[in-house]
Amino acid sequence: MTDNPWNNTPDAEGRFGGFGGRFIPETLMPLVLELEGAWQEAKTDPDFIAQMHGLLKDYVGRPSAVYHAMRLSEHFNGAKIWFKRDELNHTGAHKINNCLGQVLLARRMGKTRIIAETGAGQHGVATATVAARFGLECVVFMGSKDIERQKPNVFRMKLLGAKIIPVTSGTGTLKDAMNEALRDWVTHVDKTFYVIGTAAGPHPYPQMVRDLQSVIGREARAQIIEREGRLPDACVACIGGGSNAIGLFYPFLNDKSVRLIGVEAAGRGLQSNEHAASLTGGEPGILHGNRTYLLQDDDGQIADAHSISAGLDYPGIGPEHSYLHDIGRAEYLSATDEEALDAFQLCTRLEGIIPALEPAHALARVGDLAKELGQDGLILMNMCGRGDKDVFAVAEHLGVEL
Ligand SMILES: *Cc1c(COP(=O)(O)O)cnc(C)c1O
Repeated sequence: MTDNPWNNTPDAEGRFGGFGGRFIPETLMPLVLELEGAWQEAKTDPDFIAQMHGLLKDYVGRPSAVYHAMRLSEHFNGAKIWFKRDELNHTGAHKINNCLGQVLLARRMGKTRIIAETGAGQHGVATATVAARFGLECVVFMGSKDIERQKPNVFRMKLLGAKIIPVTSGTGTLKDAMNEALRDWVTHVDKTFYVIGTAAGPHPYPQMVRDLQSVIGREARAQIIEREGRLPDACVACIGGGSNAIGLFYPFLNDKSVRLIGVEAAGRGLQSNEHAASLTGGEPGILHGNRTYLLQDDDGQIADAHSISAGLDYPGIGPEHSYLHDIGRAEYLSATDEEALDAFQLCTRLEGIIPALEPAHALARVGDLAKELGQDGLILMNMCGRGDKDVFAVAEHLGVEL
């Protein structure tokens, strides 16, 4: 292994060590190759960068603040805790960083029809938002079960002008919606751009989504150095497919003193088979065009994920995390539904910030870490989404009638 193995990742085939790649039907190959070429060109084009920067500033509201969570730090009586406040972005989470970049790329490539998959509806809403901003046709594939469970987001997407296509195959959830979107892409090649919502899928998606989300880590690294005069001891983020986490981690990869910690959803417990911890509780396999850790049953079938937080409910994880896990550069922990609910309430009470249930998982582990690192420690956590969307689910779990 070279000194900094991550400097050159992924390789030309999109592999992060033994993970990632392009496991796709031949009909998809020309599409992903065209996309890869377009992205490599766009990301170094000063005009594209300037356009991106302008919209991130005026439309998304970047840079997002870093905030010293003083009362939580006092509560845990350990390390100093800082939040990177991506929950303040337009549409309430980090997803828009990625959607904006991909839609700008679609326009640059002359594509007029945007498609996306969505589970809980958050990525669908962010995509429909940016598509509306540019007057582009937008089609969102969503599992029929998820359409039932996520009515407010379905309505939001419709208000934004998107068309929702129910997917009834498989279990009628996110992984099936993603398969259907890939199929649609092949059949409408000329005008269609597929906006994937996390750092997964065939190459170049994991790299492209990482590049777009790494604005989180670039900003945060400069901000924490400015405020604290040094690097943090640990960066912590929750993991669904891994896009906000890799976005935070990537600019710190070469800072060897900085621990990188991803927190997966342990649902009702890692022993329960009702969780979404692909790295902690899964095995390598192939799904959605890449090789990575996946939740599988004894026959190698993809198992359904469970989490209190719909955004963490994906049976896989981006391939770069699988790689960082196996080379030992990043650590992966998990938090249960219960722990996330406790952290959700604690943060709301002590900081006046209602976190999304996703980053509440990260916060659950931040408490332990703060004690472990002690008073001199410094923790940077990505507050990747706000919890307005979750108050009904939380009320139900707490047995409160609204
Ligand atoms: C979608 C979502 C996630 C999970 O996605 P990643 O790709 O793992 O970042 C996490 N937090 C929030 C707020 C989300 O909306």
